[in-house]
Amino acid sequence: MKLQSTLEFTKENIAQSLREPSWPLWLKISCVVLLTVAWGDALAFSGAASDASKDNAPLPHIDAKRAFEYTREVTAFGPRYIGSENHKKLERYIVDHLKGDEVEDDAFTADTVEGKFPVRNIIAKFPGAKDGIVVIMGHYDTNYPLRNIGYVGANDGGSSTAILLEFANQLRGKKRDGYSVWLVWTDGEEAVRRWSDTDSDYGSRHLAETWEKDGTLKKIKALMVMDMIGDADLDIVRDTNGAPWLLDLIYNAAERGGYQSHFYATQGPIEDDHLPFVKRGVPCADVIDLDYGYHNVFHHTAQDTMDKLSPKSLEIVGNTIMETIHLLDQR
Ligand SMILES: [Zn+2]
Repeated sequence: MKLQSTLEFTKENIAQSLREPSWPLWLKISCVVLLTVAWGDALAFSGAASDASKDNAPLPHIDAKRAFEYTREVTAFGPRYIGSENHKKLERYIVDHLKGDEVEDDAFTADTVEGKFPVRNIIAKFPGAKDGIVVIMGHYDTNYPLRNIGYVGANDGGSSTAILLEFANQLRGKKRDGYSVWLVWTDGEEAVRRWSDTDSDYGSRHLAETWEKDGTLKKIKALMVMDMIGDADLDIVRDTNGAPWLLDLIYNAAERGGYQSHFYATQGPIEDDHLPFVKRGVPCADVIDLDYGYHNVFHHTAQDTMDKLSPKSLEIVGNTIMETIHLLDQR
């Protein structure tokens, strides 16, 4: 994914752009201050919405150790880029963990600048009594251009796959009074050559089209993308491509768990799997930490490995998102 801005803020390049040698230091600092100040304004109004969270329901608790273990197992498959043997193994791993659940595929062939690839979004549906759907997405493919350098994407691809598996554990076997929750392991999120509108988000673009045609999009109350959420030094960026009310609701949920210091110290418009849905008017949020290592140095490098991650971060994001679902149910 990537972060755009006036300065072409992309998941790939926000941190890179800040360390770009052609930028004088004062400009870098001004940029960071600008982002932080802009975010201060946003925080001022988020407080007003926090009344929604005043109920006595216990806070959700995911099994963070188990989620971390999933991350380790997924990462241990090695590079899991589209079209690879490890990718197929991971597809089986995901589906094997969804036994007894209502599982569907959105599978197709993507025509890319590197050739044709099979792409498969895996969808697990947990029905609720309330009319409407909350969608949670996370990509499971790893970076294609880095396929030959031993890149394993523990955070970028691993953590998102794992947190969704843990969400499935939390949702399974419980009758939902609230909205239906659909978990989507998206495929082909990564660019095969260079991030652009046509070389990225292959799976989610296809799914958005499919759901537009079959009427599903109209039923979606909120769509949240999980990406790179395992960094031990967790800073979730406020994604300004997202719906402000949903971003605020996530912040309120984080506050309830005492996790707010990990949210929204910086902000910027992020391009990720949610964009095809944003473009179609679905309320979305990308829950992503784009400061992976100082100045994002580990992102899309062979250093994206398990030792950089922490179960605590999976717990913070997992509990916050489960609580956000609870808050959404009450709306
Ligand atoms: Zn990536």
